[in-house]
Amino acid sequence: MDVVIASTNRNKVEEISQMLKGSKFKIISLLDFKDKNLPEIEEDGLTFEENARKKALIIAKLTGRLTLADDSGLMVDTLNGRPGVHSARYSGKDATPEENNRKLLEELKDVPTKKRTARFVCVIAVARPSGKVSVVEGLCEGLIAKEIRGADGFGYDPLFIVPEYDKTFAELGSAVKNKISHRAIAIQKAVEILTGLSEQEKG
Ligand code: IMP
Repeated sequence: MDVVIASTNRNKVEEISQMLKGSKFKIISLLDFKDKNLPEIEEDGLTFEENARKKALIIAKLTGRLTLADDSGLMVDTLNGRPGVHSARYSGKDATPEENNRKLLEELKDVPTKKRTARFVCVIAVARPSGKVSVVEGLCEGLIAKEIRGADGFGYDPLFIVPEYDKTFAELGSAVKNKISHRAIAIQKAVEILTGLSEQEKG
């Protein structure tokens, strides 16, 4: 069964493709629809769910294919959940991951280890071209490091410590991250939905 991933974020598409490797679902990237001139979708929702639903639904309608969209981000407790839905543009429009990480370290510079609790959130929407949408969520709890640690991954990975390993996602690398991350958990749930749909299709 073909599934379109409604994302232009190469890191996310790569992670999702890795997680679905060996499954019966064939991933089609938005790049495969270049000739359709698909629009840039503005992520203007107030929640991860709003953004994920919007992206999945628009792309499912335009491509006529089953579509999966992820909206994700980092919620830091002492910052009342920020950067949250604004994770990608935390330090401004077109911010680089380095700038975002620097801003986060600066905002937490006087915060002791115990109070540096945070979680990554991933909401995945699965949309049918008919307009029906299902939504699932994955969470991963952790702590914000006091300095950049590790070179793998993307975004806030070098600052996100997974307490069970006492390592950041960037130190753990993709093999471990892709088993325990917020996205891995959400993808497992999304696969259950996709499996149900493919069973229905078989009739
Ligand atoms: P969006 O979902 O494309 O709007 O952006 C999510 C942003 O949250 C990314 O650009 C990263 O800054 C951050 N983020 C989401 N998931 C991860 C992850 O697995 N590792 C590191 N940063 C992430």
